[in-house]
Amino acid sequence: MTIKANDPSLQSWVNIPSNSDFPIQNLPFGIFQTANLSPRIGVAIGEQVADLQVLAKHGFFDDLKIDRRVFAQAYLNDFIALGKAKTSAVRNRLSEILDSNLEEWDSKELAPYFLHPQSQVQMLMPVKVGDYTDFYSSLEHASNVGAMFRDPSNPLLPNWRHLPVAYHGRASSIVVSGTPIHRPKGQTMPQSAQSPVFGPTQLLDFELEMAFILGKSSELGQSIGTEEAEEYIFGMVLFNDWSARDIQSWEYQPLGPFLSKNFASTVSPWVVTLDALEPFRTETPMQEPAVLPYLQFTGKKSFDINLEVVLQTETSLQEKLCRSNFKYMYWNMSQQLAHHTVTGCNVNVGDMMGSGTISGPSSDSFGSMLELTWRGAKPIALTDGSERKFIHDGDTIILKGWGERDGVRIGFGEAIGKILPAK
Ligand code: CA
Repeated sequence: MTIKANDPSLQSWVNIPSNSDFPIQNLPFGIFQTANLSPRIGVAIGEQVADLQVLAKHGFFDDLKIDRRVFAQAYLNDFIALGKAKTSAVRNRLSEILDSNLEEWDSKELAPYFLHPQSQVQMLMPVKVGDYTDFYSSLEHASNVGAMFRDPSNPLLPNWRHLPVAYHGRASSIVVSGTPIHRPKGQTMPQSAQSPVFGPTQLLDFELEMAFILGKSSELGQSIGTEEAEEYIFGMVLFNDWSARDIQSWEYQPLGPFLSKNFASTVSPWVVTLDALEPFRTETPMQEPAVLPYLQFTGKKSFDINLEVVLQTETSLQEKLCRSNFKYMYWNMSQQLAHHTVTGCNVNVGDMMGSGTISGPSSDSFGSMLELTWRGAKPIALTDGSERKFIHDGDTIILKGWGERDGVRIGFGEAIGKILPAK
């Protein structure tokens, strides 16, 4: 599929720093506000945010037959519910407005009115999340966790290679990047204890994930096949599924998807469209044994997206904890959505589906402290002389993601969360 707005030769009249996540070929959507401006839809371009409410007011989208009020909402839901024909047309129009070669739009003159420095806006949750599901789709992650929590010689449950395992998570505690997280409290069973104890988690962890956002609803009773699944996917964000490992191992093994996970998840504020990710399509890893027909698919349904996790303590420099890639996922998004709806379970615009922790084959590509330190057995040495087995109060975890091809970098920005002491 050729998408005009993805053309690597496009240049914007807006200044784009060379390492920017947001060249004219990206144009991700988000929700922002300022001291003077109510929440509205913005699009990241270089170090600026393009204000779609202002552009709509000046008639830039009138011929697309979109109600202007859609751009003045506090969530993207109404916008993405317009459907891909409309949202892709808006992205293409923005590409024209910001293109250095096109004189058709007198957009440069309007720049002071519709461009705001990103440093001067506050990003908000991009979508109102109705339902959130978290998958468990990385073979390396499931094998690592299964080896630690269950049986090193037989880490995977018998179903794992036959279906994308998942659980229904908690939507209310998904927060946008920059929101501080209080260390959760809960019930745990320390190795030395005879009975459970209560208090702040001692084994707080991050999980490096991505999530896709539903852009189209399905009916109750309807199943979405793998070949049509991408019609339902609007775009993707970075996703940190904060986890309390001691609460997890006591409440249920190996997933433990209740209190060990429900206190917070952090998402990046910019939704990168599936359109913008088109150049990064790649093969899904070989699935052996063969999957049942409803999970079979054709073509390149995985995406080559570099991922990185950085730790910033209160005294250290930024420390890179791991480097992974979304393409390592054993199950792709189309399979996940097909499996999710095979029962007839309906999905809604704004629903969020987490990938599960994205670990790669090498020990520096593991997507959690649990795996990187092998449950604390191998602490990570930091430049300030301290070490980490799990996350301390005052630590900040930063997720980054980007694809790179033909000299164009399509980035996700960051998903940042700082851990505060337990309340
Ligand atoms: Ca997870």
